[in-house]
Amino acid sequence: MQLLMMGPPGAGKGTQAAKLVKEFNIPQISTGDMFRAAVKEGTELGKQAKACMDAGKLVPDEITIGIVRERLAKDDCKDGFILDGFPRTVEQADALNKILDELGKKLTRVLNVNVPSEELIGRAVGRRICKTCGSTYHVKFNAPKVGGVCDNCGGELYQRTDDTVETMTNRLNVYVKSTQPLIDYYKNAGVYTEIDGGQPIDKVTEDIFSVLKRGA
Ligand code: ADP
Ligand code: AMP
Repeated sequence: MQLLMMGPPGAGKGTQAAKLVKEFNIPQISTGDMFRAAVKEGTELGKQAKACMDAGKLVPDEITIGIVRERLAKDDCKDGFILDGFPRTVEQADALNKILDELGKKLTRVLNVNVPSEELIGRAVGRRICKTCGSTYHVKFNAPKVGGVCDNCGGELYQRTDDTVETMTNRLNVYVKSTQPLIDYYKNAGVYTEIDGGQPIDKVTEDIFSVLKRGA
């Protein structure tokens, strides 16, 4: 199963992708996570990515497409994967089609997690992530049992440096301009399903599973 999670920043793509990983045992491929890992390692890629991420801009297509091409060729993707936050431009979507063709695969479904724009800044600013296992929380909507501590592994929670009101405003503008056109792109490809991401987390998961079960 080759899934694609789309939606504006803070919509809940990563939260839902993590549930799909557990259910289907296929990897989550988040370009944002890959860039954050590179920043942490201090690689050349990390340095280039950090400047874009902190400004709320997209990392250039040629860089992003290159890391996804390499990642999808890995052995753990052979039975499927969940792309989270890629593609974000029409150029990336065209490149993904090419990569999938080369691998002899097709997208099973594109799930667009749709959330009213006025809710997105609050979701991102309240987001907390585990330093150790990457689990995602929200200070109000999905709070850990003990503040600042991961329920799963006891790791310390941190706030992303780009989860500020100012950077989120830029990220939302970039989403509207560069990523939103992909809605029609995937509608035309016949694989698009809209998910109401404005509901509580478990209800969103339920809707996604029922879409995947009935295959549309
Ligand atoms: P994305 O990957 O789309 O940027 P995340 O999955 O990281 O978004 O979610 C952003 C924030 O919103 C996180 O703090 C997460 O806990 C919270 N969140 C996710 N889904 C919901 C939901 N349905 N209702 C309320 N908060 C949510
Ligand atoms: P995310 O973790 O998906 O919220 O992404 C965080 C940041 O990483 C974005 O604001 C971009 O700067 C960068 N990024 C993630 N995915 C992509 C992508 N597909 N194309 C370009 N930049 C990306």
